[in-house]
Amino acid sequence: MRYISTRGLIQPVSFKDAVMMGLANDGGLLLPEQYPLIPLSMLEDWRELSYPELAFEIISRFADDIPPNDLRILIDRSYATFTTEEITPLVRKNDIYVLELFHGPTLAFKDVALQFLGNLFEYLLKERGQKMNIVGATSGDTGSAAIYGVRGKENINIFILHPHLKTSPVQALQMTTVTDPNVFNIAVRGTFDDCQNMVKAMFSDLSFKEKHALGAVNSINWARVLAQVVYYFYAWLRATDRSRNEVVFSVPTGNFGDIFAGYVAKHMGLPIKKLLLATNENNILTRFINDGDYSLADVVQTASPSMDIQVASNFERYLYYLFDQDPKRVRETFELFAKTGRMEFTNTEKDRVRKEFLSESVNEQDTIATIANFHQETGYLLDPHTAVGVKAAMDLVGPEATAICLATAHPAKFADAVQKAIGEPPPLPPSLQGIERLPSRCQVLDANIDTIRNFIEEKAL
Ligand SMILES: *Cc1c(COP(=O)(O)O)cnc(C)c1O
Repeated sequence: MRYISTRGLIQPVSFKDAVMMGLANDGGLLLPEQYPLIPLSMLEDWRELSYPELAFEIISRFADDIPPNDLRILIDRSYATFTTEEITPLVRKNDIYVLELFHGPTLAFKDVALQFLGNLFEYLLKERGQKMNIVGATSGDTGSAAIYGVRGKENINIFILHPHLKTSPVQALQMTTVTDPNVFNIAVRGTFDDCQNMVKAMFSDLSFKEKHALGAVNSINWARVLAQVVYYFYAWLRATDRSRNEVVFSVPTGNFGDIFAGYVAKHMGLPIKKLLLATNENNILTRFINDGDYSLADVVQTASPSMDIQVASNFERYLYYLFDQDPKRVRETFELFAKTGRMEFTNTEKDRVRKEFLSESVNEQDTIATIANFHQETGYLLDPHTAVGVKAAMDLVGPEATAICLATAHPAKFADAVQKAIGEPPPLPPSLQGIERLPSRCQVLDANIDTIRNFIEEKAL
């Protein structure tokens, strides 16, 4: 299978090259040239597969340049770190299915993709005799999932910048207690934006980037999206039988990566009635879906910080299809957006968007109330991100369809919001018990690009 760019200015590349490229060299995002179609009869044959077996069936159709046995090993290794055999269990609470995506090492859904990406990087680097220095900034969840994805791996060092004392204490500990020699946590005396800007500056310094083989793990890597496609199939196969298959997936959305994986599953023939894109008060994507209004606003802080995003990095992938795979239109739209902070859509396009997606923006008060009410009615604790999706599903999915809500984080990661909702902190899962007493390693540095650059240069492979 070959991969093309949404901006249309690169030659098609293989799966392996697409993984190593991350962002396409023309500034666009990589997408498969076409999608394998899964007929309903094949779906029926997949009902009994385990998660790793299903992952192999799906991923192998896109990663056709990796020998099947190698791919099986990579997949098995990636999901052996999860604490449930089902990997992503589907539980039913009243009328709603909750797809628990938080049983990986850092208790958030990003593990599903980053455990796989870490193993894939190690495999490809070894094959090519190359090294990689991963550099990234995090406000919380992505950093720890990326660190756990590559800890102890050969030919990879990882440098994660986080704002010193500005993440939640649990989030910082989840990163700094990983003391493998290839992991470097940098606590920056500054804000998340400082971290992000310094990372961007290092990546745009092409000579620095090449000299140190800088790699990124952000959600624009195609392998991350691909790994996430699997659990849409997995959940659908468990929530449906032959007679009832009207399914709506509700997805708490930030960078549009997770929900785009659902869109890919739909393209492959998975009978998804609609995708419900749930946002918190940062609602640019909800305005886009419901009113065709994609215009920039300021980011506000909420109880679901991993969704406090305005410009969703994976949105461009969807736009490519909305624009009938016209890369010129994609380029023009991003030029307009860079100049004016907004995009323009035709009425036909707006109609098409509403055919595929539902959307709702959930405010802070309703998020906390949903955690409280759901707990009272079912005894089940939602994290604030998941609560946004559950609330949207309760409002928008009628009895004629089955709602599957993606649970993107374990409630224990967001103890403050839970405490606010139910008056007591969430119970701690084993991986967080006593985490504050574990040995930790972290370098605290000033928000100065030269200081950070020198540190990385000194420790780089
Ligand atoms: C990253 C994240 C999201 C948003 O996912 P996107 O793929 O960026 O849309 C939602 N919830 C949690 C807990 C996350 O960590």
